[in-house]
Amino acid sequence: MPLNLSLMKILPAAAVAVGGASAYMKFGPDVEARLPPTRKLPYPPSADFPDLTHHHNVMKNHLTPAVYAKLRDRVTPNGITLDQCIQTGVDNPGHPFIKIVGLVAGDEESYETFKELFYPVIKERHNGYDPETQIHPIDLDPSKIKGGHLDEKYVLSSRVRTGRAIRGIPHPPMCSRAERREVERVVTEALQGLPSDLAGKYFSLKNMTDKEQDQLIEDHFLFDKPVSPLLTSSGMARDWPDGRGIFHNDKKNFLVWINEEDHSRIISMEKGGNMKSVFERFCRGINDVEKLIEQKGWEFQKSDNLGYILTCPSNIGNGLRCGVHVKLPKLSQDSRFNDILEKLRLQKRGTGGVDTAAVGGTFDISNLDRLGKSEVELVQQVIDGVSLMVDMEKKLEKKQSIQHLIPK
Ligand code: ADP
Ligand code: MG
Repeated sequence: MPLNLSLMKILPAAAVAVGGASAYMKFGPDVEARLPPTRKLPYPPSADFPDLTHHHNVMKNHLTPAVYAKLRDRVTPNGITLDQCIQTGVDNPGHPFIKIVGLVAGDEESYETFKELFYPVIKERHNGYDPETQIHPIDLDPSKIKGGHLDEKYVLSSRVRTGRAIRGIPHPPMCSRAERREVERVVTEALQGLPSDLAGKYFSLKNMTDKEQDQLIEDHFLFDKPVSPLLTSSGMARDWPDGRGIFHNDKKNFLVWINEEDHSRIISMEKGGNMKSVFERFCRGINDVEKLIEQKGWEFQKSDNLGYILTCPSNIGNGLRCGVHVKLPKLSQDSRFNDILEKLRLQKRGTGGVDTAAVGGTFDISNLDRLGKSEVELVQQVIDGVSLMVDMEKKLEKKQSIQHLIPK
């Protein structure tokens, strides 16, 4: 039976419409055997509706009983259900420092199959972006950046990261062990083709000592152990550390994480405030990696409307988090700090990663948006925003007013 016909028998129309036939043709010869039957559950959707009474994540705002009833029995071509995608949001009512989404995409097709939930969540999380009609811009030309060398008395380190997922393979929360190992193989083999200054080695977590791993985490190069409940309830910590690892060049200023929250995270970073140079290396690296993946016959998950497709809806678009570790002891004590960050479309975190609180007035400050704006626009926004906040810090040190510097 041709693949598409078999899909149409099994899947609802909305799922079959996802990305056209081409997306489905990539699942390999055993795809039909892996397709799930239509779910026929003994209880009505109302009996399965999760208790979200005390929740304040974005998913909760859009998962009405009607939406749930419509989506509960749908499955993606990989057999992924809505309940799997919302589990992290059900188990995690909120987060102390950031507004969480509470929803992950088990695979590329989850975005379409469950679009009645994913699209409104995307719209709310991405500042009104309409995934039905808007086209996501991509611009990786670092020559367009103005300025970009931030004051190193305040800015301790600069970093730009993104994520990329391999088309045809479910995301870490829901992939199988074989699929996870395949991602590791495909990406690490492709990375062997990187040019001189970006070239490096892959270190799998399985082959590292605890001491080596802890040192890499402490030095901010490696993702944390899967301690965050956001990761564990989504399913992405299963089989840890199988299939996980980190690639880096000699200088440790170009790094690729494998199979943490996304198939891959690509990072350019260095000490100090030279964000322009960090972004320049990032752009070269990301273009090279994409070409190498394509040379091996694979491609990244991507669409015109959603940009690059990743596990968390907060990351789709360019997946870009351009951030600095910056000392703002005075400004961060000011009652206007959060408001200033919001007006500048910036987010604050602690310097130990997303689950940490800031210590001693040093923060990780990065862009809030990732969809509907290009890489160049966002990096410029962070450079301008951080420069402005450093100016405010200097004024506060001299006990001067910052009111005129606060954006409207
Ligand atoms: P991501 O969004 O990339 O997953 P996390 O908040 O989870 O970021 O942090 C991952 C690691 O990257 C942490 O060790 C964190 O300290 C480090 N990191 C993030 N931004 C910077 C930066 N500007 N400079 C140095 N290290 C950073
Ligand atoms: Mg993270």
